[in-house]
Amino acid sequence: MAIVKVEKVGKRYPLGEQVVDALRDVSLTIDPGAFLAIAGPSGSGKSTLLNIIGCIDSPSTGHVFIEGQDVSGKTPDQLADVRARTLGFIFQNFNLLPVLSARENVEYPLLQLPELSRAERRERVAHYLDMVGLARFAEHRPNQLSGGQRQRVAIARALATHSRLVLADEPTANLDRETGRSILELMQSINSKAGTTFVFSTHDSHVMAMADRLVHMEDGCILRQEGRSAQPAEEAAP
Ligand code: ADP
Ligand code: MG
Repeated sequence: MAIVKVEKVGKRYPLGEQVVDALRDVSLTIDPGAFLAIAGPSGSGKSTLLNIIGCIDSPSTGHVFIEGQDVSGKTPDQLADVRARTLGFIFQNFNLLPVLSARENVEYPLLQLPELSRAERRERVAHYLDMVGLARFAEHRPNQLSGGQRQRVAIARALATHSRLVLADEPTANLDRETGRSILELMQSINSKAGTTFVFSTHDSHVMAMADRLVHMEDGCILRQEGRSAQPAEEAAP
């Protein structure tokens, strides 16, 4: 079963008297274990698509299925539960809470899972901070960490809920090339070891080159796809 199925999704934003078609009839199927990049110029709809897949925003038309569940008709509470138990998000500007330590930032989404005891939370946080190479920095606040280290905290936070799907919106855009590459390599190694599905947007050709599947967007449409598990052309929007 596909982990994500986007079916003829449109997203229309009102803008004063006019409307913006941020997505037009986008269809996309993503298999579990994919390491997929969404490429395209600024304004092409990458963030809108990631936000809709991530249940942060809802489509104007069409349907989104996460692990076979149609999330299009769900209530905000149900969506919050899908987000808490299935997905992790990584943002361009890291989005860490500045007053919390690295450890507390990673623990934060776990507070939404009442079945986890305090000891289990602690254990998970330690495990994921160690996985991203930050065990020694657990008590540091974001402003005491470099950009690359902040993004590692964000990766640990995205994984700590045992997410099967991690969505990353231009995760390397605020990092220098070398640090960006090490972040992508970390994501890649988690993808191959744990099978976590990663979907990330970028307009950096070096980042695109690391994906095993590449979806090109322009003006709210999928133009074409490349890669090992790419869908046949008729799946792409016209
Ligand atoms: P990208 O991430 O590829 O740069 P976005 O998904 O952010 O593109 O934006 C796609 C289009 O939708 C752009 O024209 C943008 O201006 C518009 N857009 C995005 N979010 C909103 C919003 N909340 N209100 C109005 N227009 C929006
Ligand atoms: Mg964007």
